[in-house]
Amino acid sequence: DVDSAATPLPSVSKSNIGCRWSDITSYATKKKVQSWFQLPSGNWELGRIMSTSGIESIISLPDGKILKVNSDSLIPANPDILDGVDDLMQLSFLNEPSVLFNLQYRYNQDMIYTKAGPVLVAINPFKKVSLYGNYYIEAYKNKSIESPHVYAIADTAIREMTRDEVNQSIIISGESGAGKTETAKIAMQYLAALGGGSGIEDEILKTNPILEAFGNAKTLRNDNSSRFGKLIEIHFSETGKISGAKIQTFLLEKSRVVQCAEGERSYHIFYQLCAGAPRALREKLNLKDVDDYKYLKQSNCYSIAGVDDAEQFRIVKEALDVVHVSKEDQESVFAMLAAVLCLGNVSFAMIDNENHVEAVADESLINVAKLIGCDTADLNLALSTRKMRVGNDNIVQKLTLSQAVDTRDALAKSIYACLFEWLVEQINKSLAVGKWRTGRSISILDIYGFESFDRNSFEQFCINYANERLQQHFNRHLFKLEQEEYIQDGIDWAKVDFDDNQDCLTLFEKKPLGLLSLLDEESTFPNGTDFTFANKLKQHLNSNSCFRGEREKAFTVSHFAGEVTYDTTGFLEKNRDLLHLDSIQLLSSCSCHLPQTFASNMLNQSGKPVVGPLHKAGGADSQKLSVATKFKSQLFQLMQRLESTTPHFIRCIKPNNFQSPGSYEQGLVLQQLRCCGVLEVVRISRSGFPTRMSHQKFAKRYGFLLLENVASQDPLSVSVAILHQFNILPEMYQVGYTKLFFRTGQIGALEDTRNHTL
Ligand code: ADP
Ligand code: MG
Repeated sequence: DVDSAATPLPSVSKSNIGCRWSDITSYATKKKVQSWFQLPSGNWELGRIMSTSGIESIISLPDGKILKVNSDSLIPANPDILDGVDDLMQLSFLNEPSVLFNLQYRYNQDMIYTKAGPVLVAINPFKKVSLYGNYYIEAYKNKSIESPHVYAIADTAIREMTRDEVNQSIIISGESGAGKTETAKIAMQYLAALGGGSGIEDEILKTNPILEAFGNAKTLRNDNSSRFGKLIEIHFSETGKISGAKIQTFLLEKSRVVQCAEGERSYHIFYQLCAGAPRALREKLNLKDVDDYKYLKQSNCYSIAGVDDAEQFRIVKEALDVVHVSKEDQESVFAMLAAVLCLGNVSFAMIDNENHVEAVADESLINVAKLIGCDTADLNLALSTRKMRVGNDNIVQKLTLSQAVDTRDALAKSIYACLFEWLVEQINKSLAVGKWRTGRSISILDIYGFESFDRNSFEQFCINYANERLQQHFNRHLFKLEQEEYIQDGIDWAKVDFDDNQDCLTLFEKKPLGLLSLLDEESTFPNGTDFTFANKLKQHLNSNSCFRGEREKAFTVSHFAGEVTYDTTGFLEKNRDLLHLDSIQLLSSCSCHLPQTFASNMLNQSGKPVVGPLHKAGGADSQKLSVATKFKSQLFQLMQRLESTTPHFIRCIKPNNFQSPGSYEQGLVLQQLRCCGVLEVVRISRSGFPTRMSHQKFAKRYGFLLLENVASQDPLSVSVAILHQFNILPEMYQVGYTKLFFRTGQIGALEDTRNHTL
């Protein structure tokens, strides 16, 4: 039994990603071997070891420099034959510089896709690369091309859906600007090409320009940044044809409608409407130029290089036609957009010496009232007063300037968010799965990756929580895969230690003493503030190892991707996300059907039945689900759905912060590889037996190195003889039914000897 010497795997700590010389026992000579050396800039440079004496080594760098360095600071590089391998798992040394170099080597040749075991890594080229279109789609379909690609992932998904009769998912993650949305479109393109025929595929593709117009904006990171998460579930009939689709969106950033940083834009559709509306529509909506609207003016940015907003408007209208949004509905949509913009121009004037205000009855106010279909006086009241219930009495409180401005902005944000939801609903009706439904589907998830900024707020809190959940899904799936392969080949599966992030998830989800519960609790207290919230967290969670209270209103969470410090300023308000009942009542009293629909959706969400005349309600703010609670339940639903699918992971990487082609910043790439768990995949496999070679291939490649004849020439005997001759330690390999499994670095050493001998 050749396998008997195998020992259980030692656990490998997270810091052990780099493999150092001292780890590699079987190297005969280190002379002239290539090695990574880290420059003061942090970048890695490939050097050659000239000599080694104990702790010191002399290395020569490509520019001719000779350096004396600490041997421990050197990290082994892979033999040249492994340059640019299309799966990082093929690398003998899986250390960080080797991974970075391999990706860069490929990127420089426009090979933007690389596998990291089961994960596809995609590096944004920021330029057109000729990897797409019918020729490539055919090639991947016929399997005449094998290099890693989104098409290959989509193809595998279709095949496995059909073969295993299991739903599939393609989970795309990465930072803003890394290429998630483009990648999702590329995957959709492939599915549409293979599953097309019914015509519905065109409708599905046309949802992209619509959702991008209403949900994407120019930010400093990405000219076309999605400000929402999206899951699109594409359904297939028994014959493999697309039969329909369903879209779910997550957490639209609605604050952007009223507030936008210098150099960024609000949602594309506003600029498209202003630039592209035909004269009749302009007049009907009393549309102005973009710089006449305060909401658009504040960020001082109106256009995007290379983008024609008027042309985009035409494309969006055409797409709306395709998904069966009627012309009347389209006009109502545009009226809502105009109303939102115009609301931003509504101003207030002081009416007494207690700072109370009312809206100025100017063109803006009149126009908003006209666009949503209400009385100017009613609009004014809704913006400048609030009905309150004190004891048994209903009283009307006048608002101060800042309260009135907040009320106005809250109304603008709500109208926009409702409009977005309504559009998604219309699209879903149009794409609804017809009578061919088999229940088989492929879902594509395009969701914001882990975020860590100088200042992190409620949005990062929600996004990072979602990523924590997705990471757990990712980890568990990968482990299952690894385990299956070992078991299949008869290898003793000893549990590999991996960082489960359950503790962090518990910190978020535990009831009643978890981050989300405490946030909701504090949000319902009338006297709760961000400060009392932060204190409560510190009081209850300080013993949790993933939590640390910080000074003032801040706290730190240890996420799988690193520590993030959150500033609780605005948490409670963002979580409550209240639209005053006065505003909802105003919308429900409008003569236009969209505001009415929005109002009833909002009231439905609050759980209250909509009965009787709303105007009687006269209470305090409507009770509705908090944003965090709604998001958590959406997330749970999402995870439930994903858990019943076979997942395929794509990790998008942004190689520079300038959206420019050809620039690859090692530090930036490394940080993302760590954040999105790619190095974790690499680590997992390092802690197991990542290098696999069939007995045949191994015997053929190294057999000639044998010094003594082996009795039997069968590949297994030859392989074992080689292992013995080279003194490869028993814990460094395992012999499976069909393959040899090696720990990291073992093949590198053999390969080196082979090269010296040849
Ligand atoms: P994310 O959704 O991750 O924020 P996007 O998918 O919007 O990022 O990509 C940002 C920009 O990068 C795109 O607008 C496009 O210019 C460029 N890009 C992304 N992926 C590709 C690709 N595969 N080929 C060419 N350009 C790309
Ligand atoms: Mg995007």
